[in-house]
Amino acid sequence: MQQPNERMKAVFGEFVLLVIVTTLAVAALSLWFFRSFGEAVMMPAVGFTVAVTAASALPYLAYLVFRVASLHADNDGLMRAAHTDRLTGVLNRQGFEKVFRNHLRSLVGQSDKGLMLLIIDADHFKRINDRLGHPVGDIALKKIAGTLKKLVRQSDAVGRLGGEEFVVSLPCGTPEQGEKVAERLRMAINRLHVGSGKNGAQLSVSIGGVFMRTPQPFDRIYEAADANLYRSKEGGRNRCTIASIAAQGRGRLRGLEGPAASQTAG
Ligand code: GH3
Ligand code: MG
Ligand code: MG
Repeated sequence: MQQPNERMKAVFGEFVLLVIVTTLAVAALSLWFFRSFGEAVMMPAVGFTVAVTAASALPYLAYLVFRVASLHADNDGLMRAAHTDRLTGVLNRQGFEKVFRNHLRSLVGQSDKGLMLLIIDADHFKRINDRLGHPVGDIALKKIAGTLKKLVRQSDAVGRLGGEEFVVSLPCGTPEQGEKVAERLRMAINRLHVGSGKNGAQLSVSIGGVFMRTPQPFDRIYEAADANLYRSKEGGRNRCTIASIAAQGRGRLRGLEGPAASQTAG
């Protein structure tokens, strides 16, 4: 499929071709029409007709540029909406996978580069909904998403895969750098609250992450990160479990303990 820029170039190319063909046709027609007027009349008349035809393309061109620019802007807006999670404003699955594939591609031939994928799942979220109501649960999701966005770089990607599960893609040089970010995210979310007093809850998330230096199929990366998320849940929640996956799929696991489970939400 053509990219938008290539499509625009094609549209302008077709327009120029149309102007040339129309001008040539008008030149031929006016030569035929003025042939009996003698050369003194015919040449200026043909020149004038051809010049007017070619010049009349300019307002059409201005109109085309204006319309194409506004369609371009509409298209950008639609693309953004199609790739954005309506509740939280972060990327949806489709949008995230697109950026993540670009991050994976940028690993090719760059042995000093690496990429960390984090799956971030809110702890005991059903309890928050049950105790405080779904609208408060929605506020919690927005707060988590906002915190993730705020703490990562613009070039990183934050997405919501669905429910109370988020993903972050972090290009980073070493697994340790990625682990630091994961811990920072976990701790920041653990400082968030929704509601107040007896009708309030402290939030926490469990994180599963994988670090890679070479592109892998998304399903395989997701599976490995999900297995680590499961380990974080099993380990008591509010913690990170990170592994490095090699091209052949052999992994090295490391768990980062968070505060005691008693500090988690609910
Ligand atoms: P765990 O710590 O094991 O992850 O437990 P959990 O309760 O977070 O996990 P579980 O899968 O049992 O429940 C997830 C809950 O998330 C249930 C569902 O109602 C809630 N949820 C999913 N999407 C939304 C949403 O858009 N808004 C709100 N408020 N809740 C949601
Ligand atoms: Mg959960
Ligand atoms: Mg979940």
